[in-house]
Amino acid sequence: MANQTREKQLQDLKELKKPSVLIVGGGINGIGLYRDLVLQGVDVLLVERNDFCSGASAALSRMIHGGLRYLEQGDFKLVRESLEERNALLRNAPHYVFPLATTIPIFDYSSGILNGLLQFLRLTDRPGKRGALVIKLGLSLYDFFTRTRRETPIHRFHNKKETFRQWPDFHPEVKCSATYYDVWVTYPERLGLEMIMDADQTNTGAAAINYVSVANTKDGTVTLKDQITGEELPVQPTIVVNATGAWINLTNDALQGDDINPVSKMVGGTKGSHLIIRNDDLLKATGGQMVYYENQDGRICILFPYFGNVLVGSTDIKIDDPTDVRCEEDERDYILQSLAFVFPDITIKQEEILYTFSGVRPLIHSDASVTGGISRDHVCRTLPETPGRPFPVLCMIGGKWTTFRAFGAQVTDQILGTLNKSRQCSTFDVAIGGGKGFAKDKGAFDSWINDLARNSGLGETRLRTLAMRYGTATEDLIRFMQQGEDHLLASDPSYSQRELLHIIEQEQVVTLEDILLRRTAMGISGNLSSDLVDEVLQILAQARGWSTLQIETARSEFLNRLASFHAVTFSTPSRQCTNA
Ligand SMILES: Cc1cc2nc3c(=O)[nH]c(=O)nc-3n(C[C@H](O)[C@H](O)[C@H](O)COP(=O)(O)OP(=O)(O)OC[C@H]3O[C@@H](n4cnc5c(N)ncnc54)[C@H](O)[C@@H]3O)c2cc1C
Repeated sequence: MANQTREKQLQDLKELKKPSVLIVGGGINGIGLYRDLVLQGVDVLLVERNDFCSGASAALSRMIHGGLRYLEQGDFKLVRESLEERNALLRNAPHYVFPLATTIPIFDYSSGILNGLLQFLRLTDRPGKRGALVIKLGLSLYDFFTRTRRETPIHRFHNKKETFRQWPDFHPEVKCSATYYDVWVTYPERLGLEMIMDADQTNTGAAAINYVSVANTKDGTVTLKDQITGEELPVQPTIVVNATGAWINLTNDALQGDDINPVSKMVGGTKGSHLIIRNDDLLKATGGQMVYYENQDGRICILFPYFGNVLVGSTDIKIDDPTDVRCEEDERDYILQSLAFVFPDITIKQEEILYTFSGVRPLIHSDASVTGGISRDHVCRTLPETPGRPFPVLCMIGGKWTTFRAFGAQVTDQILGTLNKSRQCSTFDVAIGGGKGFAKDKGAFDSWINDLARNSGLGETRLRTLAMRYGTATEDLIRFMQQGEDHLLASDPSYSQRELLHIIEQEQVVTLEDILLRRTAMGISGNLSSDLVDEVLQILAQARGWSTLQIETARSEFLNRLASFHAVTFSTPSRQCTNA
């Protein structure tokens, strides 16, 4: 079986020779824009050089948040917008986005007032200690911004006794703590993909395709290249959107065409890394919440339970080349040292670090000396058409995962204005993928699961697992699973063979990594084993009819990437896996 979904997209791409809009980059910003334009009936093409949501959009701290610390920089507009978007995502993606109680251990009462003021006045960009008063002010603003459409409880302070009752492992010098609510996301890569799949059901004059890059531009023709077959695909767009995140500067060069004038730098990246740690003491010490704490250098770090382990991060380091970033040893040491600062009695062993991941924040180019001082806001800059490049290039710079919808809407409005079209609908209340009709209320959720169990014969535990992976799309999946012989995987019985086949058939899977790291949480949950890799590879290889050589290549490419970019190696050798 060929990759039908991707072939269909390629076919659409070839028919769409003169799209109104070409979006380059399938991270969350490109995807958010794609969905909005499709909903407005615009013929749009999105191309992503790797897999969807595989750049910064896979490297987030898995938070959908207002950005408490941006208040210090006076970014009130950004915080207010982020909180609105956060709440919208709670409503529109209730299968993947959940409130998360977040506790801040506080080491003194009054510090941070002067530093906060200086930051606000742009007289310093150095982070400093934040005492209870400054935190109280920030959290009160947070609550104020969400007062009209509140989705989460307001903040609460705890005195020392109460703090140590709930978090006995905190550093003994902690004086008090504050708990507020932010939001976390279980499957951000799937959420991005679901928006593409939603868009594809709405409009036939659009295509979004992975593993296609921009090769060059000449005489108004942008030549795209299929990274799998090497085929060149010319298109003549009216407008191009550069949504390539940390690669925006490089993509602008590739889009310059016959125009030899250099484009000024728009993006300056900072790299961030995270660790996934399996340590029962640490997991218990979180109290089941996020701990949002400042390290000795005043930088904010976070940790919270994630798929049964603890996610800890992140670093923030200026870099020039965004390609092939990984968590380096000094970053790992920094994160572990920050952990030891907040939980001094908990020791993490090397073998308890199950997985690492890194990415580059595509921030607005800045000369700020301290990376934390660079704004996390988003902006769209337009490069007007030139004689050598007869189409404008709109560059989507910066932003956060949280604000993708608002950013997409802003750029959509600009594009609609240029195309002389009017907006048909807003995306603010549009549910995403398996979030459509998903019951947030426990009673309604339980009764949906009971109905599914009665109608499908599947067990309740299995159905709850599927519901948290696919939301209401579970119903389609069950129909597919029951059309053939199915069995649970020997190496991870929470997945079944036909469940993975459904992903392979429906979700533009090209590589083994697409399945193991982005369509499922097998990688980030720390559950990968050589047996699991081989079992999934076998299913993919059978579905695609791969030769033994193709299977061997796929396995070694994946294992190399896993070792290089996620610090995962297996002590037991892989079993042999052949084509059937
Ligand atoms: C460490 C870290 C932690 C973060 N934590 C959070 C968080 O908790 N919450 C939050 O809201 N935000 C967070 N962010 C920010 C958020 O992840 C990013 O702002 C967002 O993902 C940027 O999306 P993007 O689409 O602009 O970029 P990307 O996701 O990087 O997408 C750009 C895409 O363009 C593709 N591309 C590049 N060149 C080409 C080409 N020539 N042709 C085709 N495609 C190309 C790339 O392959 C890439 O997939 C974090 C970021 C990092 C790095």
